[in-house]
Formats: sequence, structure tokens, C-alpha cells
Amino acid sequence: MSFHHPHSQYWCYCGKVSTVHCSWTDENAGRRFYGCYKGRGPGHCNFFIWLDPKMCPRSLQIIPGLIRNKNKIERELKLTQEKQRRLWAIVVVSSILLNRANKALKLNQANKKELEVEMKALRATEKKLWAVIILMFSFFVYAIMIAG
Ligand SMILES: [Zn+2]
Repeated sequence: MSFHHPHSQYWCYCGKVSTVHCSWTDENAGRRFYGCYKGRGPGHCNFFIWLDPKMCPRSLQIIPGLIRNKNKIERELKLTQEKQRRLWAIVVVSSILLNRANKALKLNQANKKELEVEMKALRATEKKLWAVIILMFSFFVYAIMIAG
């Protein structure tokens, strides 16, 4: 393993132009290297040459922490986005349900008004019927009195 000039081109053991990869180990976080054109995929050869120089101790100290923070923030962002999607779904469903409830309420109010009109008509009819009954009863009493 040695450091080579970035503009060099290398052929891996497969005989193909090697590709640039990036290490994400704590010791070499973000440090690039030339590797097999197949990457870490099946059948790759073990060709390996560093592209970037060895990292200074300060970078070694700081970069892994920064990467962990970045990953943590990305995970939190993903969770927040999922929560946001769920909240949107709830808002949409709620507004649909609310709309239906409103329609049902309006229908109920319309029905109530119709029923009230019917009730008034029935009460008027009831009053007329009572008037007829009282009149007939009075007539009946009067007829008995005359007969007696
Ligand atoms: Zn190869």
C-alpha cells in the first residue's frame, strides 16, 4: 500500500482500468483509493493503491465523529420525513371524514326542518280533529237533552 499521484491511471489485476473508491473506516474516513473495477462486488481482485495521502492525526480525530453526526442527522431527517408523510395522510383522511360529517349534518338539518314542517301540519290537523270531536260531542249532548 503506497501513496501515488492522483492523476495516475492504474490497471487492476483483472486487466481493466481501476476505479476510484472511498474508504469509510475510522482510520481512513473519506480517504480515496484505486481498486478493482468491480469494486467490492463478487469476483473482484484485491488491487489496492491509495489515491489520497495518509490522514493527519487531527483529521483522524475529527472526521469519524463528523461522519457519525452526519449519519445520525440523515437518520433523523428520514424519520422526520416519514412522520411528516404520516401526518399528511392523517390530515387528508381527517379532512375527507370532516367533509362527510358536514354533509351528513346538513342533510340532518334539512330533514329536521322537513320534520318540523310536518309536525306543524299534524298539530294543526290534530286541533281541527279535536274541534270536530268537541262539536260532535256537544251536538250529541244537545240531542240527548232534547230527546230527554
Ligand atoms: Zn480487478
